[in-house]
Amino acid sequence: MTAMASSRVLILNRSYQPVQVARVQRAFGLLYSGAAQALDENFQAFDFKSWSELSARAHDDTISTSQLVLRVPRILVLQTYDKLPRTRVRFSRQNIYLRDNFTCQYCAKRFVRQKLNLDHVVPRSQGGRTTWENVVCSCVRCNLTKGGRTPQQANMKLLKKPKRPSWHSLMPILGQVPYKEWLPFIDPVAASYWNTELES
Ligand SMILES: [Zn+2]
Repeated sequence: MTAMASSRVLILNRSYQPVQVARVQRAFGLLYSGAAQALDENFQAFDFKSWSELSARAHDDTISTSQLVLRVPRILVLQTYDKLPRTRVRFSRQNIYLRDNFTCQYCAKRFVRQKLNLDHVVPRSQGGRTTWENVVCSCVRCNLTKGGRTPQQANMKLLKKPKRPSWHSLMPILGQVPYKEWLPFIDPVAASYWNTELES
């Protein structure tokens, strides 16, 4: 009846957008202090007191204090804005490949890692910077064709405008979604389903 060491709690901001993944102890700190509420499997919100009154029986992930057995929540929602900083994605080769889904951003074909390069959209020789907004995944062939030119100069078209990814947009690709309860908030399709304004 103890929390699995690997248990993680997804932290959402007040707009139900993921901002962090926390360890159990940290999550209970937020819940206990009132900074956050816990969501159950029906996405109903509970404060610490009402959460502690939920039965922990028949639940496989719990923690025990001297007086209580508590369910480990899968999701918390912050009650105030900007309590936690958003987790940032490291600007790395691997994460650029992941963002671009191992797809050449010029010919739109998927390649194995070894056949891919990083391309500066605006070449460094023309003042292009090494940033999320100016570096894309490119196959060796397109990279050579483009050379030291901008896409416009080389008459090549980018698949999409590169931008900084959010860490949770990379999670499904990385296979790091340990609980099904997280999916509505992380999976881009499901997230847009939940967040799109409905027509009356
Ligand atoms: Zn290509």
